[in-house]
Amino acid sequence: MDVTQARPSDDELLGAVRRGDADALEALVTRYQPRVYRFGLAMCRDPADAHDVTQDTFVSMVRGIQGFRADSTVSTWLYAITRHACLRKRRRRKSAPHGEVSLEALPAGEHETLRARTSSPEEALAAQEHRTLLRAAIRSLAPSQREVLMLRDVEGLTASDTAKVLGLSVAAVKSRLHRARLELRAALGPVLGTGSPNRGQPCRNVLTDLSTHLEGDLAPGTCARLEAHVATCPPCQEACESLREALALCRRTSLPVVPQSTQRAVRQAIRSCLTEHGTSPRPRSRAHPERASRHEGDR
Ligand SMILES: [Zn+2]
Repeated sequence: MDVTQARPSDDELLGAVRRGDADALEALVTRYQPRVYRFGLAMCRDPADAHDVTQDTFVSMVRGIQGFRADSTVSTWLYAITRHACLRKRRRRKSAPHGEVSLEALPAGEHETLRARTSSPEEALAAQEHRTLLRAAIRSLAPSQREVLMLRDVEGLTASDTAKVLGLSVAAVKSRLHRARLELRAALGPVLGTGSPNRGQPCRNVLTDLSTHLEGDLAPGTCARLEAHVATCPPCQEACESLREALALCRRTSLPVVPQSTQRAVRQAIRSCLTEHGTSPRPRSRAHPERASRHEGDR
């Protein structure tokens, strides 16, 4: 397969990797490395662990690729492997302290509201700060909420794929997701400008109903009542806006730049694994010697 042509699908790449195509393997790793690293970093909350987890994930991928059955997608498979690698890490570190990180731990000055900053000329800087604050808020969630929020709202998996990765029912995923979104909004409170006690609390269940609605699960009648209520109740209106804003921040999260050392370690681990198993895929693209040599140079 010439991976320099039109973007091949995951399944096409997978098929080519199984036939021993080294370029396809490289393309698959390049495609998923930032996602695996981002998810690993969010779950482990430690760059050194995310480094190890990324490496372990791709080694497991290479080992399991011949046995992989297409009853799930490549992405759900990889997220599931990453998650298991994170769980193994967590178990190993059980003795280590793992206090939850709170927004209060952020440097002074980062509590200003995001809303107040959107008109700032320093938008790039503001965006960077939003990312930092969002990361801290996500890190403050309990692990079971963090993983569901990461997969559904940051990585953009469907609820059904999220359920596959986590080994849960779709109903269980959604119930955790609604709680996680409310927690995230609360953790981002000072950022979203919802921290003032004078604003009043939203009415009971309104935020859960909104989250349910966003999943396409709210009955039309309930939806109409929710809309009518929110239109006339300022605390609910504000709460709903802030929840939507929090989720928009999640969806806008950009992919991280995977550290060079991690990228090198991943390639090295894959090479060792392939040598060990004596099934080294061979580079096919002899027509692109400059490309092949550049890849070597990266390593
Ligand atoms: Zn209300």
